[in-house]
Amino acid sequence: MKAIVQTAPKSIEIRDRERPVPSDDEVLVQVHYAGLCGSDAHAYKYEGGYEWIPIPRVMGHEYSGKVVEVGENVTNFAVGDKVVEEPIHDCGTCFQCKNGQPNVCQNFEITGMHNDGAYTEFTTVEPDDLHHIPEDVPLRQASITEPLSIATRAVFTQSNVTPGDTVLVEGPGPIGVLVAAVADSMGANVVVSGLGKDGAYRLPLVEELGIDTINVGSIDLEDVVDERTDGIGFDVVFDTTGHKSGVEMAIDNVRKGGQVVVVGLPGDSSDVFMTPIVRGEIDLNTSYGSTWRNFEQAIRVMANDSIDVDSIVDTSYSVDEPTAAFEAFLDSETCKPVFSFVDE
Ligand SMILES: [Zn+2]
Ligand SMILES: [Zn+2]
Repeated sequence: MKAIVQTAPKSIEIRDRERPVPSDDEVLVQVHYAGLCGSDAHAYKYEGGYEWIPIPRVMGHEYSGKVVEVGENVTNFAVGDKVVEEPIHDCGTCFQCKNGQPNVCQNFEITGMHNDGAYTEFTTVEPDDLHHIPEDVPLRQASITEPLSIATRAVFTQSNVTPGDTVLVEGPGPIGVLVAAVADSMGANVVVSGLGKDGAYRLPLVEELGIDTINVGSIDLEDVVDERTDGIGFDVVFDTTGHKSGVEMAIDNVRKGGQVVVVGLPGDSSDVFMTPIVRGEIDLNTSYGSTWRNFEQAIRVMANDSIDVDSIVDTSYSVDEPTAAFEAFLDSETCKPVFSFVDE
């Protein structure tokens, strides 16, 4: 079977791999669609924090597919079922797992990093790591369940957003776009900010979803705050930029008594000046990964047509030329490239 394999930093190849055989406790899933996420792009560059990944490695953790074979001991999945995998496998035994916080498990393993992933035609999975996808949700849409679950966690679990709230989402990458779409679906008044090259594809995509955007490379954010919030600042700011300046910008633009939710990993230590945060009683929260519940929320959001998933999923890149998708992603020429292994 065909697989997209990382062989060296910035080098990926199509290789032929043996089709795996499920154990009695596993199912075999035929991958239909597999998405490219920010962490895949970091792994592709083999950046700091990712050089531990053994290569060659079959990449990919965001995917949807169909069960094609079921191990003898598996009772809750059947051949033909539409599924997605929860790719961050918690250990189930550490303090956080026992404490109902598996997204911050001490010993988690990620499909496509610790083990071979889903950029391939078939993969074996334990049923505990799978979610059923309803018949009326196309697998092309379901391929983004995992990143959407990160957005449902950030908005539904970790933020205070309510309908009518003014919300700023910093960064129109895949997580920013999905956070904005989820907040917009619940009736918040959302604007997404981006920089220079986001103007080519990502901010227009957000506009296509019916959500306002600002390119802070050319527009003064202060004017936007005045206009949209009567100068008091946003009720909630989500930082998905993955850059320390995003946290600083969030704190500058949230209102006193408002909330900042940091979703991206800011990397370098941030020189955040704490005094205005205390004086403004700003709630500084974080959101990391997602849980079983956030996956189910994501699936329901799709089943209810609450967000325009079809516009977000970009299946224009070929499985046979995966480098093009990675390079385009890194250049912000796409937002959520998804490889089609089986076209529906
Ligand atoms: Zn991901
Ligand atoms: Zn654990």
